[in-house]
Amino acid sequence: MRSTSPRLLPLFAIASAMAFALIAASCARSIEARTEFVIGTLCRIDLQDQGSDAAYREIFARLRSIEEAMSANKDGTELDAVNRAAGIAPVAVGADMMAVAVKAVRYAELTDGAFDPTVGPLVKLWNIGTPEARVPSAEEIAAALKLIGWRDLVVDEKAGTLFLKKPGMRLDFGAIAKGYAADAVAEILARRRIKRAVVDLGGNVLVYGKKKDGSPWRVGVQDPSGLRGSHIGIVRIEAKTLVTSGVYERFFEEDGRRYHHILSTRDGYPVSNGLISVTIVADKSVDADALSTSAFALGWEKGKALVESIPGAEAIFVWDDLTVRATPGIKKDFALSDERYRIVD
Ligand code: ADP
Ligand code: MG
Repeated sequence: MRSTSPRLLPLFAIASAMAFALIAASCARSIEARTEFVIGTLCRIDLQDQGSDAAYREIFARLRSIEEAMSANKDGTELDAVNRAAGIAPVAVGADMMAVAVKAVRYAELTDGAFDPTVGPLVKLWNIGTPEARVPSAEEIAAALKLIGWRDLVVDEKAGTLFLKKPGMRLDFGAIAKGYAADAVAEILARRRIKRAVVDLGGNVLVYGKKKDGSPWRVGVQDPSGLRGSHIGIVRIEAKTLVTSGVYERFFEEDGRRYHHILSTRDGYPVSNGLISVTIVADKSVDADALSTSAFALGWEKGKALVESIPGAEAIFVWDDLTVRATPGIKKDFALSDERYRIVD
């Protein structure tokens, strides 16, 4: 529909936007939370103090630049360049890519490869989360497994390059990039001296600062057996991040079987150890993200040991028989609310 005075409209829009900005500024009140689809997921940023258009714009621009560096589903990203040069030559990457690569290799080392950023060929083969998802043949899986191995990822921090030694190798930062992005948002909040905010990058949640009334934030732990949005319990946290990896996030079903997106680097199939989700609470979101996938892949014993080796990190494991186990440090701050589940020691 066209206005009778189209040239006046933009002016009016600007004037009213300015008026709104002024009112907002004069009351020192935050403007509403904003949600955008970026880094492959819905990202909701809620600046509860000093929220401004400029702050939101800076945050989403930062998220877009991270996506442009390390998206696995886009041509022209730095990650894509590294993958294309596999077996050929090292590729210069930016500081974000380098930082994520260093962290990812660290977790690969800590998990003895259960978490592996070179899992790309397997992710591509299964295509879970896309309409092309299908169960690959045993031969295809064997071929993909041959290309996986974090020791063949050469991270040269001095030169600022990444190199995949074998042709056909592919990096995939899907298990860690969202956490890194959440920490990057927290850096902007600190620089802008924003006192409180909630950063939710597709379920990768970071609570920043203290709530206005001084009480801890209450963050729901997603129900891995149910619908998106429902939760099995609440964790009370302050200045922490909460990240869940689960079978409900991305999956497809074939012949009555569910195939989810956390893949075993040993056998090439979705990890099948009875777990349906692992939630991590930690100081840094990059650690929480890497740990949630790592602990899921490792299972309870090894996963718990790994989590406990990272200062400030805690975990809540959930199994398909609806039992729940938590690390001792989180028990007092975790309240189960869904009576179908039960906490065991
Ligand atoms: P979400 O994407 O739901 O946050 P995760 O953080 O657990 O879930 O990451 C899962 C993603 O990580 C997969 O979609 C895939 O891109 C990648 N991935 C799958 N298996 C592994 C693995 N064993 N090690 C590292 N990354 C993995
Ligand atoms: Mg993860």
